[in-house]
Amino acid sequence: MEKRICVIEGDGIGPEVMAQAIKVLDRVAEKFSHKFNYEYRLAGGCAIDKTGCCLPKETLDCVLSTDSTLLGAVGGNKWDSQPANNRPEKALLGIRKAMQVYANLRPQKLYPQLSTPLRADVIADGIDIMIVRELVSGVYFGEHNQCVENGENVAVDIMKYTETEIKRVAKVAFELAEKRSGNLLLVDKANVLATSKLWRKVASEMSANYPNVNLSFMYVDNCAMQIIKNPSKIDVILTENMFGDILSDEASALTSSIGMAGSASLGDGKRGFYEAIHGSAPDIAGQDIANPIGMILSVAMMLKNSFDMQKEAQCVENAVQKFIENGYRTKDILQENTTLVKCSEAGDIICSYI
Ligand code: NAD
Repeated sequence: MEKRICVIEGDGIGPEVMAQAIKVLDRVAEKFSHKFNYEYRLAGGCAIDKTGCCLPKETLDCVLSTDSTLLGAVGGNKWDSQPANNRPEKALLGIRKAMQVYANLRPQKLYPQLSTPLRADVIADGIDIMIVRELVSGVYFGEHNQCVENGENVAVDIMKYTETEIKRVAKVAFELAEKRSGNLLLVDKANVLATSKLWRKVASEMSANYPNVNLSFMYVDNCAMQIIKNPSKIDVILTENMFGDILSDEASALTSSIGMAGSASLGDGKRGFYEAIHGSAPDIAGQDIANPIGMILSVAMMLKNSFDMQKEAQCVENAVQKFIENGYRTKDILQENTTLVKCSEAGDIICSYI
């Protein structure tokens, strides 16, 4: 099979982790006789430096014409003084909106060999949570206004959801829950927010079409607590944009390092947007010490979700598992009696297991 992939390395550790992801894809192509054509484009701070714009048109054109996009990470202090509409992170929102990738899948899995801040009895049954976060609406995409009222500064952020926006992402979550344990948890704040009441109504109506899925509800404040107290009891979470953003960072801290988590952002077709959940980590950039596993697992998600390459994806996931089982660790997940490796070495070792 031949595929065109838009590759956006971005800023900070983005190029370092992306180089490992490309090594992995090259190895997959060699082993399974595929051809991946990479089209490198700029976005984020490096795009501002070279073109003045955080998301150049030629990048957006490439994102919208290739089979899928991989992104390293964007951002850094260097661009903090940019106007709000040209900050590196605006490029991410622009790509997500243009692609209409409304369903952001964020798996959070604890490998039993890795350490976690939780007590052993709390994680005895493991952690394997799939967060399905709505990605192109809600308060991040609502109106943001600041004004003066009665001589006082006032700020307003609008959170709005339509039934259609909720239905399409809920469908993704119901289908995933069907393939997993059959349990779907809608996380909201329905005791306060009108949008949350609509989420509950829409999801409840849809549940009749999924007799094998048990739909339950939880307020977001309680969910933030349950992720710490009873993570093994949670399987698939469906939630709106901002709650999903916060809960997935919280959950990632339990799975040893933010560098371990990949993500897939999907819309109506097969084309997807794939990135690790971490940022550009300016504090460790340029040292070849970043953990590339989140980016590599994002590649596995691309193979599975956009290219229908199930055995290829499984092969990449198995290689990551073997890397951990054999005691290799990047600095962020280093433990006693394990072998410290650089970011580039991690990529080579994982490739050797494919
Ligand atoms: P961050 O995720 O970049 O870093 C948080 C901490 O985690 C840092 O200590 C960092 O060293 C560590 N870390 C992150 N990824 C790692 C990896 N792969 N291996 C080892 N350690 C890793 O978050 P931040 O410091 O809040 O943000 C830095 C910049 O990234 C900001 O400009 C922010 O806006 C941007 N950002 C971008 C994205 C994205 O591109 N998707 C996401 C979040 C933040």
